[in-house]
This record gives sequence, structure tokens and C-alpha cells, in this order.
Amino acid sequence: MPQQTIPILMYHQVDTEPPKGSPMRGLVVSPQTFSRQMAALNALGYQGKSMGDLMPYLKGDKRGKVFGITFDDGYQNNLRCALPVLKRYGFTSTCYIVANQIGKTNGWDKERGVIQVPLMNAQELQAWVHAGQEVGSHTLNHADLSILSPAEQVIEIAQSKIQLEALVQQKAGVQHFCYPYGGLNKTAVQGVKAAGYLTATTTVRGRAVAAQHDDLLLPRVLVSRTTTWMQLLLKCLTRYEDKRAVNHGADVYAG
Ligand SMILES: [Zn+2]
Repeated sequence: MPQQTIPILMYHQVDTEPPKGSPMRGLVVSPQTFSRQMAALNALGYQGKSMGDLMPYLKGDKRGKVFGITFDDGYQNNLRCALPVLKRYGFTSTCYIVANQIGKTNGWDKERGVIQVPLMNAQELQAWVHAGQEVGSHTLNHADLSILSPAEQVIEIAQSKIQLEALVQQKAGVQHFCYPYGGLNKTAVQGVKAAGYLTATTTVRGRAVAAQHDDLLLPRVLVSRTTTWMQLLLKCLTRYEDKRAVNHGADVYAG
């Protein structure tokens, strides 16, 4: 039997649309669109899973109709707008948190003119975990690891895990990582492994192949403002997205 292909969805914000012309507007998915996407996958019998819940499938120990759900950056609107939908279908997800920005805003985007919106604070992160969702790390400062020295990389990767574990009461600890901007190199991946993370997601497009992809270099399926539920099904259930397996970190600045 061929290995199972597993789509891991990459979301950022779920909220009402920012005004036309706003930079990075494409990364805001409306609650209605998000709800329709989850409903479509649920109707076909697919279950959305956090990275922790997806692990046995990624390893090839389990097979089933599953997909991963990830949210980058830790926006408060994930809790407000995405969580009720996830609860409706009994789906779990992983939200990647920027450890030094908890309770602040997406300050790393400021120079690009991106609208500043609140990130979850400690209490909200706890509510997220209590609701059955997962917290992962997105470094300390939303760092592009590809331009840092190995010593700086270790601080961003390992210290964020320690800080998040101290702040959020999560049974298994913080075991999942996401490279900001999709920026990585050999020493960054080594650092993620050494820190004890079990998975790491990139901005490389495509579906993960169970037992084949390196768990620390997992590709994802980008979901943007204009992705319809029909397109999402194509991306998840056909080879549509796999053919686009290039790193879009630099041009669309996903991640
Ligand atoms: Zn990010």
C-alpha cells in the first residue's frame, strides 16, 4: 500500500477582512470562509488534527482521513473566530507562538505597514490549551533563522520552548516548532532537533508523505483569503499542491 499523503494546512489570521490595499491582507481568512472549509473537509469524513495528534499518521503507524491544522504567530482572532469552528467539528490544531510577543502585537510586521493586531496573552493561551488545542513555538522574536549565527539560532529555538513551557500548562510540553518566514538552514534544523522538538513545519508547499518526509522539514498547504472551499479540497485531496513544492517564504512571506 502506498504511504498516505497528509495535508497540513497553514493559516495565519481568521477575522473580518482588512481594508483593500492593506499589506499581507491575503493572510487573513474570514470566519465564514474558514467555517466553510472545515465543513467541506468534515463532510467528506476528514478529521482536523494538531501536530501532536497527527504524529502517529505522519510516522505511518496509523492511517485515516486526517489533515493537520496550523496557525502561525498566535493571533487573538484564532481564539475568537477559529476556535468555535474547531469545537463544532471536534478538530484540534496547533498555534505557533512567538514567545517574546505574548500579549503584544505582530510587531515584526510593523515596518512593512502591516496592520497591528493583538496576539494571545498568557490567559488566552491557557484557554486555547484548555479547549483541547495545542501550542507550538515560532521562536522568541519571529526570527529569520537563516540569517542568524548558530549560537543565536539556539537561543531563539531552545529558549522559546523553555519560556512557553513555563507559561502554558500543556501536558506534553512544547514539542512542535515552525520556522518564521520559512527561514532555515542545516544548523537551524540541528538546533530544532537538539532542543527536543518532534516536528517542525516550513513554508514549502505540498502535502506530507507519511514515513517519508523529515519530521523537522514538513511541507504545508497555504490557505489564503481567496482560497475557496473547493480549491482547498483540490489542494488537500489531489496532487495540485504537491506540484507547487517550492519555498514561497520569500515572495508571499507566508509563515
Ligand atoms: Zn510567522
